[in-house]
Amino acid sequence: MQISNISRVIAPTLSRQLYTLAKQYNDVIDFTLGDPDIRTPKGICDAANLASRQGKTRYSPNGGIQELREAIAAQTSIETGLKYNLNNVAITIGATEALYLAFDAILNEGDEVIILAPYWVQYKNIVELHKAKPVIISSFTNAFEPNLEAIREAITEHTKVIVYNSPNNPSGVVYKDATLKGIARIAQENHLYVFADEVYKSLVYSNHYSSITEYCPSENLLIFNSFSKQFAMTGWRVGYVIGNETLIDVIIKLQQNVAVCAPTISQYAALEAITHIQNYSTPIAKEFALRREITIRELEKCSALSYTAPEGTFYVFVNIGNTGMNSNTFCTSLLEKEHVAIIPGIAFGDNFDDYVRLAFTLDQSKIISGVQRLNHFIDTL
Ligand code: PLP
Repeated sequence: MQISNISRVIAPTLSRQLYTLAKQYNDVIDFTLGDPDIRTPKGICDAANLASRQGKTRYSPNGGIQELREAIAAQTSIETGLKYNLNNVAITIGATEALYLAFDAILNEGDEVIILAPYWVQYKNIVELHKAKPVIISSFTNAFEPNLEAIREAITEHTKVIVYNSPNNPSGVVYKDATLKGIARIAQENHLYVFADEVYKSLVYSNHYSSITEYCPSENLLIFNSFSKQFAMTGWRVGYVIGNETLIDVIIKLQQNVAVCAPTISQYAALEAITHIQNYSTPIAKEFALRREITIRELEKCSALSYTAPEGTFYVFVNIGNTGMNSNTFCTSLLEKEHVAIIPGIAFGDNFDDYVRLAFTLDQSKIISGVQRLNHFIDTL
């Protein structure tokens, strides 16, 4: 069958592969996907039911329903101290589509995109889908905090944008102010865009979190966010991008050709979520804080493994270097022997073959048995 050259280049993501493999065991404990087992809060579901009964079942405008764009602009203005209005916001099918459309809006063939590793694999894939070149930065000052000098050195006349995610999937690191300031400065000096993926910003356990909005001129910046993780709404497929009005206009124009709009009923659910943000978001964040404690407590029992306790997200990036196995062999063997599914570190960049990622998105008892099985696996090596 004739398929495009570009679609040949894009491999299925390792996380989906492991997730699919895991399905063959009916007693599997699956820590693969960043997809919480928590139910979407009832009030949000009720809002969607009401919207459907009221006939709000048609296409929405390309940029999303006005009330949701306004609510997001108002909430982001409160959180950042900057002034946003609905023209700064485009609603998309999750942050995934927001990123796709944003790269669509700025990239030409041959452009370079600086991606700070460890990275969410879709960045690299989306950049390649646009026939642009991902330039991966895997150099750190400490604990996965990117080395600013390495970013500087990677810039060429083709560089268009720096993309990063903090709180970071998979490392759980929350970038420090100095890092964000540095990224903003480098971007400004070199006339680059910054794409800041903040989909985990509601899940921060350390006492520091700041957004790059404090440091980066707004004309260079797009912020990506989502209802998926903050409100346990992964399947509703609502996210958004907020920032420079001209770019947002282009993104909305492109949306017409890709998906027309995010699902309308889901947008009404998202409107309820953001309008009562504390009611819905806080209990979810508390539950993840508890799960994080349990995960760390259980991992502590295994001296062969090391990790940095996550400052944010619902992931822990565990170093398996002491086992002498590469990350793929480790994960496949763990799945076969103990029926525990986790993601090989290599999925997040070539330099991370000594790591595996565990998503503590399962209930507490599953986390305990899953990590116990992991410890048993290590003991029997
Ligand atoms: N960005 C990061 C870093 C993620 O981990 C994810 C999902 O796992 C997304 C973006 C996309 O989320 P969604 O498309 O569900 O909003």
